[in-house]
Amino acid sequence: YPEAPPTIRFLAEASALHGDRDFLVYEHERASFLAHLKAVSHLAHALKDQFGIAKGDRVAIIMRNYPQWSVAFFAALSVGAIATPMNSWWTGEELEYGLQNSGAKLAIVDPQIYERIREHVDQLPELDSIIIARETEEERNHPGVYNLEDIIGETNDWAGLEPRSLPDVEIAPDDDATLMYTSGTTGKPKGALATHRAVISNFLNSMTCQARMYLRRGEALPEPDPDVQRATLLSIPFFHATGAFAILIPTLLRGDKIICMYKWDADKALPIIEKEKVTTIGGVPAIAWQVLEHPDRDKYDLSSIEVVSYGGAPSAPELVSTIKKRFPEAAPGNGWGMTETCATVTLNIGEDYVHRPDSAGAPPLAVDLKIVGPDGKTLPPGEVGELWCKSPSNCKSYWNRPDATAETFRDGWVVTGDLARLDEEGFLYLVDRAKDMLIRGGENIYSIEVESALYDHPAVMDAAVVGIPHKVLGEEVGAIVQLKPGKTVSEDELRAHVASQLAAFKVPVEIKFQSEPLPRNANGKILKPELRNRFKPRD
Ligand code: ATP
Ligand code: MG
Repeated sequence: YPEAPPTIRFLAEASALHGDRDFLVYEHERASFLAHLKAVSHLAHALKDQFGIAKGDRVAIIMRNYPQWSVAFFAALSVGAIATPMNSWWTGEELEYGLQNSGAKLAIVDPQIYERIREHVDQLPELDSIIIARETEEERNHPGVYNLEDIIGETNDWAGLEPRSLPDVEIAPDDDATLMYTSGTTGKPKGALATHRAVISNFLNSMTCQARMYLRRGEALPEPDPDVQRATLLSIPFFHATGAFAILIPTLLRGDKIICMYKWDADKALPIIEKEKVTTIGGVPAIAWQVLEHPDRDKYDLSSIEVVSYGGAPSAPELVSTIKKRFPEAAPGNGWGMTETCATVTLNIGEDYVHRPDSAGAPPLAVDLKIVGPDGKTLPPGEVGELWCKSPSNCKSYWNRPDATAETFRDGWVVTGDLARLDEEGFLYLVDRAKDMLIRGGENIYSIEVESALYDHPAVMDAAVVGIPHKVLGEEVGAIVQLKPGKTVSEDELRAHVASQLAAFKVPVEIKFQSEPLPRNANGKILKPELRNRFKPRD
């Protein structure tokens, strides 16, 4: 496929090279690189010939982390369609919004999602057909509803499919490839449109960040051993940018394997790490903590772990020292990126990260970052302002959201909505989301700063800081705290702890305690809009 964009060329070439090695593992199901490629090409031909999918059509992919997710994703890409993953946690109404917003012509879904959307299909005139991935005998007779197993069989059958080349479709690197929805942490999720070039640039960004780290330290780049296969435990969904662009595609290229889980569960993760000799864990900071602090962690052999890397949400600097303590040989990593930048832009990894545990890394060579003040002027190093990012991995626009597109995509830059600073060497420090920063009587308070002071108390498991509306001051500081099992602390004691670290005006005026975990979305991010509603305005 010499003319194909790298996403598809890599699929064909890497699959041929890595052949019979395991690529995707899910419970008792295993698909090798070749088996996966066969399934992709069979589905791709069906998409083109049977379902009439043409270039630019949106193909929605809505399922849990099953091996079929990857087959659907690459099949859509290889017929020139826009792969449109959606959040498998969404309700029927939310799925209707996503399908409507994207105008998907076909949806490839798992049986649970089918149950959720079947009542909504009447509202979706553009949705011609639905393919149900995995076991569903009963649906075979419904018009417009098909079964993926009729096309490619079960996961363990893929190896027996006839080899077929991918369909002959002309696709250019700058053609649209994916429409990926943001996490919906601050509002309704937005679909961000990326080209094949942008999608593959995630890999470019993380590789050049790593290369730069070695060069800065005066060390040669390590040569990977072709006989050793690394394994990533997939703890975050494929349907977010990190899962698809920072895990799935790089794993395919490197000939590594992915262990899928239906749902993240730290209790199940430990035996899997031991059995599959998992080398890479992480995803988001909360997941790394759950493994590191798991009460049974010493009962399992976790010595295969080489990398503990995460991003997507603020992480405490102590996470780095905890990783080094538990897994002295492993490289910790923290990356910053957004759906709108096809995941990874900066990556802070290994020794660099140990020395700068509060940074998300320096930008790779092909990326420009700048910090912009309220007046639109670029700020010097050290000053906090809004982060703007120009990366080859940037998306083009939001889908069907001209208002939000005009705000975020400006002259090749993505205006991130993140407050940050850069140091003299270009290292990036995230300070807060602009929307999460509180302004109390004209003073800026970064929610993350107060959360770090709360986390620092030995009884605190999780914490979130939000603004409580106040008649005179505008906002006051409110906190919701989950305590560690069996630990207690009073509100006054915790307030005193924060006051010992931060100025008095940053100390929460109200702390609510709860024993259940804080509400988080599928990406492990705390849903602050939900928490804000729990406080009554004050005066
Ligand atoms: P929405 O845009 O719908 O509100 P979202 O911003 O959470 O949701 P994503 O694109 O998944 O959707 O997340 C990107 C955001 O995650 C960034 O803008 C930033 O706020 C946060 N983030 C990403 N990486 C890091 C990191 N390493 N440290 C701190 N925050 C991070
Ligand atoms: Mg966002």
